[in-house]
Amino acid sequence: MSTDPVAVGGPGLPQVRRLVTEIPGPASRALQERKTAAVPTGIGTTLPVYVTAAGGGVLVDVDGNSLIDLGSGIAVVTVGNSAPRVVEAVASQAAAFTHTCFMITPYAGYVEVAEALNRVTPGDHDKRTVLFNSGAEAVENAVKIARAHTGKDAVAVFDHAYHGRTNLTMAMTAKNMPYKDGFGPFASEVYRAPMSYPFRDAGTDGPAAARRAIDVIEKQVGAHNLAAVVIEPIQGEGGFIVPAPGFLPALVEWCTANDVVFVADEVQTGFARTGAMFAMEHEGVVPDLIATAKGIAGGLPLSAVTGRAEIMNAAHVGGLGGTYGGNPVACAAALAVLETIDAEGLVDRARAIGKTLIERLTTLQQDDPRIGDVRGRGAMVAVELVRPGTTDPDPDLARAVAAGAAAQGVVVLTCGTYGNVLRLLPPLSMPDELLAEACDVLAGVFNDLP
Ligand SMILES: *Cc1c(COP(=O)(O)O)cnc(C)c1O
Repeated sequence: MSTDPVAVGGPGLPQVRRLVTEIPGPASRALQERKTAAVPTGIGTTLPVYVTAAGGGVLVDVDGNSLIDLGSGIAVVTVGNSAPRVVEAVASQAAAFTHTCFMITPYAGYVEVAEALNRVTPGDHDKRTVLFNSGAEAVENAVKIARAHTGKDAVAVFDHAYHGRTNLTMAMTAKNMPYKDGFGPFASEVYRAPMSYPFRDAGTDGPAAARRAIDVIEKQVGAHNLAAVVIEPIQGEGGFIVPAPGFLPALVEWCTANDVVFVADEVQTGFARTGAMFAMEHEGVVPDLIATAKGIAGGLPLSAVTGRAEIMNAAHVGGLGGTYGGNPVACAAALAVLETIDAEGLVDRARAIGKTLIERLTTLQQDDPRIGDVRGRGAMVAVELVRPGTTDPDPDLARAVAAGAAAQGVVVLTCGTYGNVLRLLPPLSMPDELLAEACDVLAGVFNDLP
């Protein structure tokens, strides 16, 4: 058993799956015991394997195991862990200065990130960008901005939505357990509309699903009360739900006609993940505001709201901000991420990864009636598990597959309102051989489970 911690990560790490102990190993188990004694139970652990280095497509743990990473820390290290440009940019910015507060004495990095996001987000209209720390904070601020612009209060969100864990975003998130239970009362003026969920909604096409949602909004809220419609172009935590074609464009059209701000929550789907820079591009949709985070800065905490200048400028001077928002080290990382996506052709890489995953998983599905649906875009792919011959969710099977894969050194996340969805979010730095090996492991796990 190797006990030497690996000190340096990045793509130079040996790109192999190699288990030298059981998973988790003794050193991880000892740390997990300390975690239990030091950290509250509210912070769960998906896989108690303690990481010492990561890069390319692997995570290396304190026991010397090397695991294949199909989670990217929940779609964050899309460019890979410790991506070289990010490491260099962070080191040099950290050596120069680490914080001044952009609202006090500003710096160029923040402005450069704003310029870059104004350029790469959908639409060529005049835009502004404001920076924050987390996805939830970006979503909250998008709502603040929409309210300031429209002078209206209400916000419409969707079934299966996930927008974060702060008070307003808990209200916007659909699922009670584990996100909301016991944590109310929640913010008011948040209304929920039905989503387009093709697997569970057969026969309702995109425009019909949009009509159904708009009916609920018109009857239960009223457009003249509604500040914003907030939606994930592909729902993340809710189960990687890709709405039927035409759903998103019809919503945008209705918003535009009714002075309602259309907010795309691209916190999980952004930055090349889906085989486009932003997932809204797949349907040619131009949102009024777009909230981004996760993949934005290679793992450093940063988020943004980008959108139409006239909407973004509605908030009064001093109305937006925060001590750390647009931290200079995080901004340096974000610029390096954008450069990496460009230089390494990662939008195309995400498409290629998606093609491989969909092919492999669809083949699996042909012989396995427990695989109800294979869906996704680019390197954001899900497998929805059901009881054979039905659409009844099978969360136990999802848990068992994730556990079986972990035991063999493949990290897979689950999601979904019913907890029955396996979600694959490999870093785009994943070598083809490792991706193929991870698929082999998953196939074997399905095969071994009764
Ligand atoms: C993760 C996520 C959030 C919340 O982001 P945090 O950084 O965890 O606050 C919001 N929206 C979507 C779609 C997400 O996936």
